[in-house]
Amino acid sequence: MTHATSGTSEAYIALGANLGNREATLLEALRRLDVYPEIKVLRCSRMYETDPVGYVDQPCFVNMAAVLQTTWSPEQLLTVMQRIELELGRERKIRFGPRTVDLDLLWVEGQQIDTPLLTLPHPRMMERAFVLVPLADIVPEGEISGLYREIQQALNIMDGKEGVRFWKTCNWRSESGHFEN
Ligand code: ADP
Ligand code: MG
Repeated sequence: MTHATSGTSEAYIALGANLGNREATLLEALRRLDVYPEIKVLRCSRMYETDPVGYVDQPCFVNMAAVLQTTWSPEQLLTVMQRIELELGRERKIRFGPRTVDLDLLWVEGQQIDTPLLTLPHPRMMERAFVLVPLADIVPEGEISGLYREIQQALNIMDGKEGVRFWKTCNWRSESGHFEN
């Protein structure tokens, strides 16, 4: 396992919630990430309301994506994301079932990882409209990695986009001054 010890990288994450006050929970998850000195939430997507996929007998989700600037390794970042899921009351009962909040690490520049705890890029991201539609809001077009093009290509041939409906703009403002000078 490699742990980056210097420099910063940009990490794209997906957020979803389908129980309780979904919008408040997602914003609180972003705020809890942003308070770490090692993380700054750079941009976030719009919020989408999405039909459940797979296990369909559950309420609609609100989904969004965000990009973080961080000095942490992907493993360190995921550990903190899982801590925040627990703090916000996530109970793991049914895989793909209802949850107060789900935080997934999607993509980190230059990082390909395949361990029992973490796979990067996220193995199912390119098949999920509820991930790609929000992600397309925040990945810059000139991205040298080709991520932007990959997302557009996947969206062009994808079924199920009609289950992802624009819901609200996100009124997120980073309160941290991290990395600003
Ligand atoms: P899902 O998000 O697919 O509904 P969970 O949130 O319950 O499922 O995550 C299941 C496991 O997936 C976690 O224990 C985590 O260690 C693992 N995992 C592997 N790669 C990733 C990733 N890129 N982002 C988030 N979790 C991941
Ligand atoms: Mg998850």
